[in-house]
Amino acid sequence: MSDLSGKTALVTGAARGQGAVEAELLATAGASVLICDVLVDEGEALATRLAAEGRDVKFLKLDVTSEAGWLEALALIRDWTGRLDILVNNAGIINRKTITDMSVDEWKKVVEVNATGAFIGVKLAAPLMAETGGGSIVNISSNSAFSGHYDPAYTASKWAIRGLTRTAAMEFAEDGIRVNAICPGLIVTDLNRNSPHLGPMIGMTPMSRAGEADEVAQLVLFLASDASAFITGEDFVIDGGFTA
Ligand code: NAD
Repeated sequence: MSDLSGKTALVTGAARGQGAVEAELLATAGASVLICDVLVDEGEALATRLAAEGRDVKFLKLDVTSEAGWLEALALIRDWTGRLDILVNNAGIINRKTITDMSVDEWKKVVEVNATGAFIGVKLAAPLMAETGGGSIVNISSNSAFSGHYDPAYTASKWAIRGLTRTAAMEFAEDGIRVNAICPGLIVTDLNRNSPHLGPMIGMTPMSRAGEADEVAQLVLFLASDASAFITGEDFVIDGGFTA
């Protein structure tokens, strides 16, 4: 496993689901990890468990749409370790209404969390990363960002993350900051556990199964580590061949 000792990571939407697995893997690799989420009980429980296992972690309630919240998280990191090396913009929500049924406010809510939240994170975290020579930002998009899909605001927001990723990679390369996107296919979590599309999506996946959160987390670890030092501005699809 890559050694992230001495590095500090911030993972959003990390109280449960894929974010929790990503935060745990980064902490297990030696990073100090700030677990951020709007779910306080789940986030505190995860931080308590990982700390009891000897990991260097903290939890902070962070709504990624709040600039003030991001500033608080970055100030906490500055006081805690004085550096930020890894940012995983993982927080995301979905609304499965069609364009016809979706209100403008419902559209805005999904885009605000998924795309604007990642934008604020990149914008505010990059200067702190640059202070210590750079770092790695991993934005969680989706394999929905390669075609049209059932969920209009979700799909558009995940395409937006791919665009943000490429643009940020160009802007911040001179600061030593790499920016990449991961585009998972179906991973069964609370986001989609009750979706009617689960069965059909597995049926359309050449590998005939959903992915595991740990399989995505391993890719996060690779992109966060120096093993990927010359990779930036890329999307990595991990979906068992769904988009092949
Ligand atoms: P999940 O619902 O289990 O986790 C999402 C987390 O984001 C939750 O802990 C939630 O509280 C948090 N969150 C929501 N709004 C937030 C906000 N405003 N501020 C901070 N945190 C917030 O779902 P998941 O499957 O673990 O999703 C993780 C990421 O992976 C999301 O970006 C999702 O779009 C993406 N993704 C998921 C799948 C899948 O099949 N599950 C596929 C492709 C991409």
